[in-house]
Amino acid sequence: MSDAAAYQFKAGHLWHEAQWRNDAAFGVDSTGKITPVSSESPDYVGNWVLPGMPNLHSHAFQRAMAGLAERRGPGDDSFWTWRETMYSFAARIGPDTLQAIASQLYVEMLKAGYTQVCEFHYLHHQPDGTPYAQPEAMSLALIEAAREAGIALTLLPVLYMSGGFDGRPLSARQRRFGHDVDAYLSLLSNLRKLESADVRVGVALHSLRAIPEQAWRSVIEHEALKTGPVHIHIAEQIGEVQDCLATRGARPVEWLLDHAAIDRRWCLVHATHLTDTETARIARSGAIAGLCPTTEANLGDGLFPLARFMDAGGTLGIGSDSHISISPIEELRWLEYGQRLSTRHRNVAARHADESVGETLWRHALKGGAQAAGMPIGAVDTDMRADFIVLDNDSPLLAARDHRSAMDSFLFAGNVSPVRHVMAGGKWVVRDFRHRDETRIAARYRTAMLSLVG
Ligand code: ZN
Repeated sequence: MSDAAAYQFKAGHLWHEAQWRNDAAFGVDSTGKITPVSSESPDYVGNWVLPGMPNLHSHAFQRAMAGLAERRGPGDDSFWTWRETMYSFAARIGPDTLQAIASQLYVEMLKAGYTQVCEFHYLHHQPDGTPYAQPEAMSLALIEAAREAGIALTLLPVLYMSGGFDGRPLSARQRRFGHDVDAYLSLLSNLRKLESADVRVGVALHSLRAIPEQAWRSVIEHEALKTGPVHIHIAEQIGEVQDCLATRGARPVEWLLDHAAIDRRWCLVHATHLTDTETARIARSGAIAGLCPTTEANLGDGLFPLARFMDAGGTLGIGSDSHISISPIEELRWLEYGQRLSTRHRNVAARHADESVGETLWRHALKGGAQAAGMPIGAVDTDMRADFIVLDNDSPLLAARDHRSAMDSFLFAGNVSPVRHVMAGGKWVVRDFRHRDETRIAARYRTAMLSLVG
């Protein structure tokens, strides 16, 4: 459990380059990177070892309200009524509570098999919109939470300027999200000074409706956006598509593709409501479709055109977004099951005969997640971050499973996670199902929750 140990490991099966490799050995150096194996007798680490999954979309504070918006309101409930609950909850959160919530969330992520998180962070200022004495206080709370938990972080401070496609000002409850372009760039440049092997800083544009059309060009062409990941919420809601058509004469994804040089640095979060042409254009651009199936189901968003996107060669990854669920297993299951329910076919994500659905989904989500994170992750390979998970050799789920069936059993057949050990950045953060600091972090979370909800 040393912080800077070097290791030599051997796995019964290691997930590598889209398949299981038998009796694979690898090293981990003291900087937390994978190295070639140098020992004659590496330590046996487990029978099924996989790269940890990146979580490409998170709003950490929303974990604390998971389950609090499942009671029917007076009228028809939708994304927009959920958002009202979320806003009133957000108004009570400050840097200390944010850190308490985020640490607990990141511990849960690691235990579930996520070893990296992209934090789409818009809770910047005090509840009345006044900046904190230290303007980046809320961002620093997230960085500290990630450090405590031991998860890699891509921090995406969000630019949020207006309250609708018509460019209206932010409402009272949105004011704490807002920046003008100059203040945002200053936040970004301060945060970029904190980048390290564990923390990457990218850019997030909240949504098309949050960036006034007249500000778009100066934002999008700014030097600060020329490197690193760029994430944006897009086409999550039918109402958003209609408003964009009414004000800008184009659908959101169509408008975005016509007004920015979208490439593989971009992550289009949700991208739920797409025409066939938009689907093909995203795939061609190399951008990632950032899918959040449990949140999209919980909010009643709709279903992504998975088969068409995969057939067009598109790149996708998964995120837990509102954190109604924290499990890569459940995200990938829902991604597939939503398609099965709507098409009345099985094995949709496997596009070719004899392909495994589980292997296809894990492979795609690793690749897209790593791309969205802008970090050297997503494979147990030389010079990559040593982020991997070890499944429980004793799990009945994996009894008599071989290289053709293990991944599908892991993803589709269990209700208790078989993720037993997790290494992140070369450190054991989860051993025998327990996180190294989970008792202290959970106790602090309970105290924070009582102050918020009690
Ligand atoms: Zn989101």
